[in-house]
Amino acid sequence: MTTALVWLRNDLRLADNPALFAAVSESDAVAPVFIWAPGESGLWSPGPATRAWLALSLKALARSIDSRGGRLLIAAGQTGITLLALAAETGATTVHWNQRYEPALTELDSRVRDHLEAAGLRVVIHSDSLLREPSTLLSTSGRPYRVFTPFMNASERGSTPAFPLPAPGRIPAPIGLREAIDPASVLPTSGDAPDIAAHWTPGEAGATARADRFFSDLADVYAHDRDWPGIEGTSKLSPHLAFGEISPRTLWHRAQEQVHHNGSHRLPEGTAAFVRQLQWREFAYHLVHHFPETTERPLRRRFEIFPWSRDPVAFEAWEHGMTGFPMVDAGMREMLATGWMHNRVRMLVASFLTKDLLLPWLDGARSFWEHLADADLPNNTLGWQWVAGCGADAAPYFRVFNPVAQGEKFDPDGRYVKRWVPELEGLSPEGIHRPWAAPSNVLASAGVVLGARYPQPIVDHAAARLRALAIYGSMRDVVE
Ligand SMILES: Cc1cc2nc3c(=O)[nH]c(=O)nc-3n(C[C@H](O)[C@H](O)[C@H](O)COP(=O)(O)OP(=O)(O)OC[C@H]3O[C@@H](n4cnc5c(N)ncnc54)[C@H](O)[C@@H]3O)c2cc1C
Repeated sequence: MTTALVWLRNDLRLADNPALFAAVSESDAVAPVFIWAPGESGLWSPGPATRAWLALSLKALARSIDSRGGRLLIAAGQTGITLLALAAETGATTVHWNQRYEPALTELDSRVRDHLEAAGLRVVIHSDSLLREPSTLLSTSGRPYRVFTPFMNASERGSTPAFPLPAPGRIPAPIGLREAIDPASVLPTSGDAPDIAAHWTPGEAGATARADRFFSDLADVYAHDRDWPGIEGTSKLSPHLAFGEISPRTLWHRAQEQVHHNGSHRLPEGTAAFVRQLQWREFAYHLVHHFPETTERPLRRRFEIFPWSRDPVAFEAWEHGMTGFPMVDAGMREMLATGWMHNRVRMLVASFLTKDLLLPWLDGARSFWEHLADADLPNNTLGWQWVAGCGADAAPYFRVFNPVAQGEKFDPDGRYVKRWVPELEGLSPEGIHRPWAAPSNVLASAGVVLGARYPQPIVDHAAARLRALAIYGSMRDVVE
């Protein structure tokens, strides 16, 4: 009788899970294991939002494993020691897991591998969470890509992503396995967490339902609607992808089905735009794989000496959605309430922090890490460094998002602001993105008292923009 453990991490699904599939195919009994060991994730241990998501996702996974005759083992403790103990308890001789790419996690995985192999266990590592392995994509000069479009072209010329593997029909548990425990008893909860259950359905079924909805209702209009935070125009698959509740290969192949539906040989516009976003995710992982130090340091080295400000009061106003700029505040509040923020608003709030307030991108990245349910180290690092102008393929330094213009263009009816900044709901669409400019009688009849429930703007955007341009401009002369 052969028994294997499958160490699950950010791959909380049964379908298209290479480690689980291999374990079930080659063993008589399989015990999938999740280990809560936040101290082993280095500087980026899970925040309140991801912990809240994780507890629900593990619950869903435990139920699906149970329905196939298996049992998800959930434990807390040092990973190497815990896996060895579980191997002894179950009689497992092999441990399977899927590859990770974040620097601290890669180091952890290799330490655990050494530990298990030294104890005589066999370790098998599988490719999983990307369309193509980052090590296989290098420029003609043999270097990693630092610009998105050539990266994407190379990726698309690469091998066709593997066809998704089926979910195992049965996951036979080792005999005499201990009783299942409730994930909530292992994962500490926090009062700061968003109400995940009110907004999302964590787990593989929830992920598949989101993908179904995207391909049936949203893909056709995605190319246009993805920029409008007030409507549901994007897939909202990011937390599901971050926890591996659906694989990117599954999404990629579902996208290709649209080629056959429309009879032409090209992807329809919306689906092509979606696949391009999946390629941004690939690019983010490519960068973190090849430049692991960038999770804490700018890819463009000259930005190491950037004269960031220190202003805890301004930072707090930003973090709590109290800057006085409605579009910025709506974004931050959406994140605090739901664990997710629309991409256009992520760019805006990040630009506001790093350019209007001149506060460090890393502080912003850490705040997102705490509050986003889709917190994903490569994507978060890429997003922040792109906006701050210090990363790969970064936004040009003179691009400073204008919070009013962004609101007027992408939330013209004020729907998004009204949802998240209800203090302003009495204002008309014309005035809602710049309440400070409204005549006092308009404010009075809308019940808005600036400086009372809703603040006056904490900076003068026009002056802040000029200040940022001067500092960013001076960075151009710094030699890397
Ligand atoms: C400052 C900043 C921080 C960010 N932090 C994160 C983060 O922690 N986690 C995260 O998943 N995304 C992050 N993003 C990228 C992006 O905002 C989200 O992936 C997207 O908003 C998720 O919504 P969606 O699933 O509806 O996306 P869709 O538009 O439906 O896109 C589909 C998928 O493609 C990927 N994707 C989309 N846009 C990007 C992008 N710009 N970069 C990398 N991958 C992308 C995501 O996996 C997403 O789920 C960040 C962006 C910025 C500007």
